[in-house]
Amino acid sequence: MGPAAMENARVERVLAGLDAAFPDPRCALDFRTPFELLVATVLSAQSTDVRVNLVTPALFARCPDAVTMAATTPEVLVPFIRTVGLFNNKARALVGLSRQLVALHGGEVPTSLDALIALPGVARKTANVVLQNAFGRNEGFVVDTHVMRLAARLGLAAGRTPEAIERVLMGLVPQDRWDRVSHQLILHGRATCDARRPACGECSLAPDCPSRGSV
Ligand code: SF4
Repeated sequence: MGPAAMENARVERVLAGLDAAFPDPRCALDFRTPFELLVATVLSAQSTDVRVNLVTPALFARCPDAVTMAATTPEVLVPFIRTVGLFNNKARALVGLSRQLVALHGGEVPTSLDALIALPGVARKTANVVLQNAFGRNEGFVVDTHVMRLAARLGLAAGRTPEAIERVLMGLVPQDRWDRVSHQLILHGRATCDARRPACGECSLAPDCPSRGSV
């Protein structure tokens, strides 16, 4: 077996190992509609999914759809989202994107990446989360801080920016598994491959990880 084939086999074993460790990976944000997922994902920036899930039930009871949220002001939303951080910016973004959804998309969340990233406060990662989890569409690969760290440590993709890492991962992982592998890397990052103290001694991927014991 040549070096390229050996590397391909190693990547396959890493992906199989993630499947074995996390056979049913799911989005950790609670939502019932694409709009709710869009809002929850905007709120999750520099926060945690757990924290967001604590505030969204009351927020969605007050504003269940884009039409209702578009008719509020950021000041109305702030008391609901104060604990998630960056709440002033996020409140402005949520009202702004709701107004654009009403003005341009009949109050519905659009199903294309280009239309989503044109909304205020919606970056590429947020758009990919919504497309994958609300519409089952893999147009891109969700790259957050966990995915960036794990992709580098596992020797899957190196790059300075999330966009650069996303491009490599999109070439490496079959498209129908982009959402799944992204969730699995995030879960493995949270459970085992911590940013500061990875538990390599307990890691099921260690035999195929070039960073084992050296981080
Ligand atoms: S062996 Fe260590 S560095 Fe590699 S994925 Fe596992 S925990 Fe992370």
